[in-house]
Amino acid sequence: MADRRHVLILGGGTGGTIAANRLRRLLPNSVDITVVDSNDDHVYQPGLLFVPFGLTHAGDLVRPRGRQLHDGIVYTHATVDRVDTAHNTVSFAGGETAGYDVLVIASGAVLMPEETEGLTGPGWGEKVFTFYSLDGALALAPVLAGFKMGRIVVNVVDMPIKCPVAPLEFCFLADWFLRERGVRDQVSLTYVTPLDGAFTKPVASKRLGELLADKGIEVVTEFNTGTVDAEAGTLVSYDGREVPFDLGVVVPLHGGAEFVGRSAGLGDELNFIPTDAHTLQSKAAPNVFVIGDAAGLPVSKAGSVTHFEGEVLTENIRRFLDGDSLDASYDGHANCFIETGFGKAVLIDFNYDTEPLPGHFPTRVGLPLLKESHLNHLGKLMFQWFYWHALLPGHSIPGIASDMPTAGKHQVPAGTR
Ligand SMILES: Cc1cc2nc3c(=O)[nH]c(=O)nc-3n(C[C@H](O)[C@H](O)[C@H](O)COP(=O)(O)OP(=O)(O)OC[C@H]3O[C@@H](n4cnc5c(N)ncnc54)[C@H](O)[C@@H]3O)c2cc1C
Repeated sequence: MADRRHVLILGGGTGGTIAANRLRRLLPNSVDITVVDSNDDHVYQPGLLFVPFGLTHAGDLVRPRGRQLHDGIVYTHATVDRVDTAHNTVSFAGGETAGYDVLVIASGAVLMPEETEGLTGPGWGEKVFTFYSLDGALALAPVLAGFKMGRIVVNVVDMPIKCPVAPLEFCFLADWFLRERGVRDQVSLTYVTPLDGAFTKPVASKRLGELLADKGIEVVTEFNTGTVDAEAGTLVSYDGREVPFDLGVVVPLHGGAEFVGRSAGLGDELNFIPTDAHTLQSKAAPNVFVIGDAAGLPVSKAGSVTHFEGEVLTENIRRFLDGDSLDASYDGHANCFIETGFGKAVLIDFNYDTEPLPGHFPTRVGLPLLKESHLNHLGKLMFQWFYWHALLPGHSIPGIASDMPTAGKHQVPAGTR
């Protein structure tokens, strides 16, 4: 028993739970696994989108964190204060410390609304909301249900954010919701983004931009929000442009967990962790690996990404412990259902090198890509079941693996984009 190694996992959300459960199965006899989290409620975050529209309830989205972990994994409720990669130790807010052989950082991203001038001042929670937290989504629901006339503005303060399509989905669902309530003609909907289009990648950006236009949703691009004056109802950009609103729905600036900033050499200026894009080993130390939103990688901060990373990450922890060379096969695979209202959704699937393209997923037959369909909407709803019963337990899903499938994708000639 003396040569058992200790894998310490910081964060028991999507990535920490997937990593722990996969490792437990991969290395049942040679590692002790501890998962630490400061909060015992595991929230299904994709469900937050539906809360403001009364389509789901908090009780449907929250489960006890420790119960998502397989037997044999130790779950500890504690707040990480800092990591000392030189001495392989982690300090906690209560003053205790823990050592590790391998550290997995799965501490996600935090919302930093206080970083935007005025955002959390008077009017926050009354006229300006975010649906990116459970409390925020719950507070927004009655306001949206009673909104009959005026301007609703959905604003992304800056990138990166979790699930970069969620604010677009909010716009599409708001259009549907207001039409269902018979007040859409009296309400203008505007999407205000720091990007130069609806999305980061050209083909998807064009298709999603067309969908926004079809639904009468105005788009304001390249808007870097400097100030939010909630009382006056105005967004002000750093270059002096103003967008007025009666109801503001803001996705605040995101950063990595605060302890990263207190840990010498671990993070970047936003507290995300520089990480090898293909092996998921941190740049800070060879025995530190990173999964999910905590990583400073050019991928979407999404549960799907976290799931795909989990396969490579756990294999690499095994290799690291065995002294083997690491598997550099993570290709940036991401996919996401984009709810578009009226019982439809669009699916996108992409990686570091291939942008979201039309076609089908995962092969030539399957779910339509970059196209609205009821089937995709059912896929979006099914994802919640998959999350609790397949993703978190760390099961491999047949046909949906870490490598991005190419068989069903159609190339789009540059001139027709
Ligand atoms: C509104 C919304 C919609 C979304 N929609 C989708 C979608 O449709 N599809 C999709 O794939 N993804 C979606 N996502 C993104 C997805 O939920 C995240 O990318 C995913 O949960 C990331 O997992 P993670 O493990 O990196 O972070 P998390 O699951 O957030 O876990 C991080 C954990 O670290 C813990 N932690 C942080 N700091 C400390 C500390 N100091 N001490 C101890 N514990 C700490 C936190 O308590 C938390 O439990 C959405 C997210 C939001 C907000």
